[in-house]
Amino acid sequence: MTADDAQVAVIGGGVVGCAVAHALARRGVSSLVLEAEPGLALAASGTNSGILHTGFDSEPGALETRLILRSAALREQLLEELAAPVWRCGARLTPRDDEQRQAVDRLAENARVNDVEVVLESDGSLVVPGEAVTDPVAFVHALAAAARSGGARFTLSAPVVGLTSAGDDGVSVELRGDERRHVRGVVNCAGLHADDVARMVGEQPASIYPRKGEFLVFAAEEPLREILLALPTALGKGVLVFPTIDGLVIAGPTAREREDKRDWSVEPDANALIRERALRMYPALARAEQIGSYAGLRPAGRGANYVIEPSRALPGLIHVAAIRSTGLSASLGIGEHVAGMLAEHAGIELGPERPLTAARVQPSGHWWTRAALHHGAAR
Ligand SMILES: Cc1cc2nc3c(=O)[nH]c(=O)nc-3n(C[C@H](O)[C@H](O)[C@H](O)COP(=O)(O)OP(=O)(O)OC[C@H]3O[C@@H](n4cnc5c(N)ncnc54)[C@H](O)[C@@H]3O)c2cc1C
Repeated sequence: MTADDAQVAVIGGGVVGCAVAHALARRGVSSLVLEAEPGLALAASGTNSGILHTGFDSEPGALETRLILRSAALREQLLEELAAPVWRCGARLTPRDDEQRQAVDRLAENARVNDVEVVLESDGSLVVPGEAVTDPVAFVHALAAAARSGGARFTLSAPVVGLTSAGDDGVSVELRGDERRHVRGVVNCAGLHADDVARMVGEQPASIYPRKGEFLVFAAEEPLREILLALPTALGKGVLVFPTIDGLVIAGPTAREREDKRDWSVEPDANALIRERALRMYPALARAEQIGSYAGLRPAGRGANYVIEPSRALPGLIHVAAIRSTGLSASLGIGEHVAGMLAEHAGIELGPERPLTAARVQPSGHWWTRAALHHGAAR
């Protein structure tokens, strides 16, 4: 290892990779984030709903839930340090019939088990005051800026193409053009391609496929002041209607099981699919002007979710795969958890916690257009 090298390489500059770099920087550990694309947050992390969930509806005890709840506990202090744009607008789920009322009662009980504050109103609506919206692209850039201020480095357009053991020296990370970096630990935060990275060392912690989610974006005359939730289904949280921090209204996402990891298109029937459900929840949308649409690809694991584990093939490598639908909300908890795993499995010495501040990151304009334009899928 040369003096110039970082202790840890993080593969992937989405919200998970940047949260890991940020958590390491807070503990005085240097990292190098290697991102294949020419910018951060150009995959799932820049094409989601931008909602910071509380975990009220998550399965009690699951790793995903524990990390969302831990993030929620860390959030207020870290958001202040990060100066990321957040609107604590709260969320509401209004049942439409007796069956839904019973489902809402079960969710209220779930929230109680997870120790998340909810209020059941007299009309049967469930209100979740802690749910918030952010600009997810600015959120990732805020994590990256703070990590940078603590010594992390970021290299863009740098796909990792190979990983090999460097014996006692740790891991050798191969980039294009036969360029190499030697590090003590590596974290695989490659989202949709986490399984491709795992295959580089001859293993497959989970097969990852895209679960596509499409959204419609509206300029509404009447501002929406809270997130309107649907009852969760087997495929996720369902179609929601939510405000953005810059005053727009978004309806979505769909949840379609797909195979093509490069297809970021909004499919022709998405409009009808989303509108039908969204209008039931928010009739005022009928009078709003649709100004755009976008699609995101959730990095879903076949039969697996939140696969965070040390590699069995390459000492020093940690996989963080199949962070499918709550990675933005859980990112702060994931970062802290992975830092602990690097200490345990890669001999990384964590220093005392230190606050990291960075200049305020400005909202990124219409953040939802950025990845769509990059992938040639803007509509
Ligand atoms: C439609 C939709 C709605 C969602 N809504 C929410 C929500 O409201 N709230 C919430 O908390 N979560 C939400 N999510 C989930 C959240 O977006 C994801 O869990 C999260 O973005 C996953 O982050 P990631 O960093 O693991 O993956 P990504 O953001 O996909 O980042 C992975 C990065 O790795 C890079 N990479 C891949 N291979 C390599 C390589 N070989 N070398 C270098 N770099 C590589 C990629 O280019 C990419 O930038 C939603 C997701 C979608 C798609």
